[in-house]
Amino acid sequence: MIDEASCYSNESKYSINTHRHLKHTQFEKSSTMKHCFLFVALVFLGCASCDTTANPESKKTPKLFEGDMALTPEQLNMLFSKTRNGVKDTRLRWPGAKVYFWFDSRIPENHRNLVINALVHIQTYTCVRFYQGANPNNEYILVTNNNAGCYSYIGYLRTAGQQLNLGPGCMYRGIIIHEFLHALGFYHEQSTYDRDTYVTINWKNIQSGYEYAFDKYTNQQVNNFGVPYDYASIMHYGPYAFSSNGKPTITAKLSGGDQMGQREGLTYSDATKINRMYNC
Ligand SMILES: [Zn+2]
Repeated sequence: MIDEASCYSNESKYSINTHRHLKHTQFEKSSTMKHCFLFVALVFLGCASCDTTANPESKKTPKLFEGDMALTPEQLNMLFSKTRNGVKDTRLRWPGAKVYFWFDSRIPENHRNLVINALVHIQTYTCVRFYQGANPNNEYILVTNNNAGCYSYIGYLRTAGQQLNLGPGCMYRGIIIHEFLHALGFYHEQSTYDRDTYVTINWKNIQSGYEYAFDKYTNQQVNNFGVPYDYASIMHYGPYAFSSNGKPTITAKLSGGDQMGQREGLTYSDATKINRMYNC
């Protein structure tokens, strides 16, 4: 099991001012950006069938891929067989860009508010909408806080309670956004097929046994949605992720690498990819 919190230990060091960053990326000048409502579209559906008393400790912690992604057997097969698409698979997208979630009863009010704040941030810049409860098919994300790090499954799994865990050290807006982007259907930025043009993976500095966390996917598996590589993506690892010796595991080849690992908020690229994935 990987202590995901350690993967984020450099986040404050590499965090950036969100407003400055958005300005820098001309977020507000985009003619394609939807003018989303700022209200909290968290509709309480009165989900009678939701498991409000779920005991997260009783759940078997899934084997994590790249530190914080829980993959279904089908997704694991997809990645290793290289015969099927990853996030290109439209079945992994939440229908109508409507994402349903529910809090495990153990999550305290202040942490729920942090999660909601993070979801409002996503809603502000994308067409995705979050609803507290279950959809008509009783499908939803179950937000838990067991002591096993920060992780999420990839995309929409059509299950009653696909787990998204926010354990100790995970209750920060950027980390919450990161995990929910996994749940929307995104892998890590530096895993994409053209990443070697932009970063060098320093294999000798990676903790033994965690080299797999730096695997990359083919363009048959992941889709960049026409968006250039983004060092500042909230889905990018920090430069010291899984370092065994305090030296960087990821080095940027071009300018902008100082923004790797930021966990303040979505970049323009992140939001664009979400909106293109969800056709809005
Ligand atoms: Zn992740």
